[in-house]
Amino acid sequence: MSKFKGKVAVVTGGSRDIGRAISIKLAKEGAKVVVNYNSSEAGANETVNEIKALGGEAVAVKADVSKLADIKNLKEKAIEAFGDKVDILVNNAGGLFARKTLQELDEDFYNLVMDVNFKSTVFITQAFETLMTEGASIINISSQASRDGGGGGSSLYASSKGAVTTFTRAMAKELGPKGIRVNALCPGLIATKFHDDFTKDEIRVKVAGSTPLRREGNASEIADLVAYLASDEASFITGVNYDINGGLAFS
Ligand code: NAP
Repeated sequence: MSKFKGKVAVVTGGSRDIGRAISIKLAKEGAKVVVNYNSSEAGANETVNEIKALGGEAVAVKADVSKLADIKNLKEKAIEAFGDKVDILVNNAGGLFARKTLQELDEDFYNLVMDVNFKSTVFITQAFETLMTEGASIINISSQASRDGGGGGSSLYASSKGAVTTFTRAMAKELGPKGIRVNALCPGLIATKFHDDFTKDEIRVKVAGSTPLRREGNASEIADLVAYLASDEASFITGVNYDINGGLAFS
């Protein structure tokens, strides 16, 4: 419990699956964690309780990360809880929402997907960068979809993650001189509610079967890479979008 002792982490979308695994991993290594959620209050409380049971510190804060007023409130609540310094920011909140073909797209759906996945990453980063100093680290959860255009009906999701991937590189250049590193993960098929909701079982079996490691990934494998990138062990790594997909695709 020492890698992140005395450090503060903010994890968006920490109420389940990947965001929960990241929150718990960072807390196990000593970080105090702000666990953001939007609609899943019970899930966020479970994440916080799990951290407390391990002897760590965490608070749950409700904020729709696609709304600037909510981001302002998240920042205020984070400062209230753990002070005005943030060492680790993980932009994890995101979603597919539905699979739609080009002709099924409309403006509301466009705004939903782009705002939750990309606008949130921009404005959360803008808000918390002012609390970061040399040695801080930002990790964005992009997607393999940003590399390959995504699975069927996920054009906007894939495009929003493409924007996250590019924004990661731009921020690495802009914030590097301040000593802030910015990296991203491009996960392949990870077993979470995301795919329980939107991917048919037969597709999951087929994708897992054609993955060199012959399985889906799990949330704790994502969390381990996030913790590495957030640590001083990765002190010369910035602007990288890491494929973590069992060998399914190479970039
Ligand atoms: P998930 O189980 O659907 O969890 C999504 C999380 O995002 C939930 O905690 C949800 O919280 C939060 N969220 C959604 N909209 C939000 C909003 N407006 N404001 C705040 N929080 C919001 O998905 P997951 O698989 O863990 O995905 C986590 C991240 O990994 C996402 O960015 C996803 O795109 C990315 N990813 C996943 C996979 C995969 O195979 N699973 C692959 C590549 C990338 P509430 O329920 O509280 O709203």
